Amino acid sequence: MSRSAHPAGPRHADVLPEGHYTAPPADLNSLDSRVWAQTVERTPEGAVAVGGLDVRRLAEEFGTPAYVMDETDFRARCRAWRDAFGSDADVYYAGKAFLSRAVVRWLHEEGLNLDVCSGGELATALDAGMPAERIALHGNNKSDEEIERAVEAGVGRIVLDSFQEIARVAHTAARLGRRQPVQIRVTVGVEAHTHEFIATAHEDQKFGLALAGGGSSSEAGEGPAAEAVRRVLMLDSLELTGIHSHIGSQIFDMAGFEVSARRVVGLLTRIRDEHGVELPEIDLGGGLGIAYTPEDDPREPHEIAKALGDIVTRECEAAGLAVPRLSVEPGRAIAGPTAFTLYEVGTLKELEGLRTYVSVDGGMSDNIRTALYDAEYSVALVSRASAAEPMLSRVVGKHCESGDIVVRDAFLPADLAPGDLLAVPATGAYCRSMASNYNHALRPPVVAVRDGQARTIVRRETEEDLLRLDVG
Ligand SMILES: *Cc1c(COP(=O)(O)O)cnc(C)c1O
Repeated sequence: MSRSAHPAGPRHADVLPEGHYTAPPADLNSLDSRVWAQTVERTPEGAVAVGGLDVRRLAEEFGTPAYVMDETDFRARCRAWRDAFGSDADVYYAGKAFLSRAVVRWLHEEGLNLDVCSGGELATALDAGMPAERIALHGNNKSDEEIERAVEAGVGRIVLDSFQEIARVAHTAARLGRRQPVQIRVTVGVEAHTHEFIATAHEDQKFGLALAGGGSSSEAGEGPAAEAVRRVLMLDSLELTGIHSHIGSQIFDMAGFEVSARRVVGLLTRIRDEHGVELPEIDLGGGLGIAYTPEDDPREPHEIAKALGDIVTRECEAAGLAVPRLSVEPGRAIAGPTAFTLYEVGTLKELEGLRTYVSVDGGMSDNIRTALYDAEYSVALVSRASAAEPMLSRVVGKHCESGDIVVRDAFLPADLAPGDLLAVPATGAYCRSMASNYNHALRPPVVAVRDGQARTIVRRETEEDLLRLDVG
């Protein structure tokens, strides 16, 4: 966090008000490749283009707000993950980050598998033709119907999350005459957030079954996880293929995965010693961080693959276990950087000595992350270049909440005016998928752009859509 002023002095206070910002960039027109999708560029005219298409044209054709997704970038990220992990590992895209039929087809074509965690996500995956054996079903409270549909479809794995669920899945599989492959989700006592992790977190959360017994964290002890393994191994309709662990989100530090892998391998060793079986799979979950602002510096998939592969191999060799097949579940790291949200500026309110509030035509209904997690984003004027001085700004939405903030602290050109287009990058994950109808907002479309072509993959909601549900 720094509080330096622009050489020319940013518009507004010399002493900047409370907030998280670094100095304004030397050039407000520059687009940092860490936060923008691959094909985003500023054209000679000064506007921004993606996939060869000018954003002004996209705004005209599809309206604002809109999520604009760079299909080339999405596919490239899928391939980068796939290639980095190679044929000894599986990459499951976490569908909750953003899922649509088109995305399912891209995943399928690029050789990825898919995590779903609800009946709706499962229906989307199957409808778009993802082979069931490449789907994993997650969730801490799967309904009987969801379990039945998953078993019936023949999903490749169900990740078991509670004792009740072991019984439910076993019962359903037996009734349908199936032997369902399952993993057990364990909590390893690691809590990871962005730049730090805690190796001794209490397993005080709704997900998974604790490795440790008695509430304290330790290496694979006599906890609920070991008991779950015992029960699953006794059930003929379940085939226990591995252990699953997911430690958090927006993680940059591999040390959390290292502790997690060590503890999971500890459980695998215990299972071998106690039951004489070596489980063939280990899933270390998702949570890999992305750059929301240029200060974030995430690792590349090949570095992550190497680090995780080395950790698992080392731990297994030390325990005298055959190295199991690894899987990972990146959601944000694939979808996040591929899209930006395109907004039109409506009103501007200059608060002397503080900042300028810039209101756009969306807000917390299309991006709840700032309000929910205090997430940081960057923003740029994209409909034209500007030589104006930087103006300390806060980009806010149109909802009836003072917490309706899209970008808390940003520098925008001081000549910003109603009708200008702004884009907020890195909104491909957990924005459309968490969008709401608050204030009866109509959820924006997702427009996929590739090689000079743009098409709607999720259309904009209409007032008829809203009223169709209102049957009173
Ligand atoms: C949310 C989630 C993921 C994906 O997390 P990202 O932070 O988007 O990578 C993967 N696995 C599980 C079990 C999850 O709950």
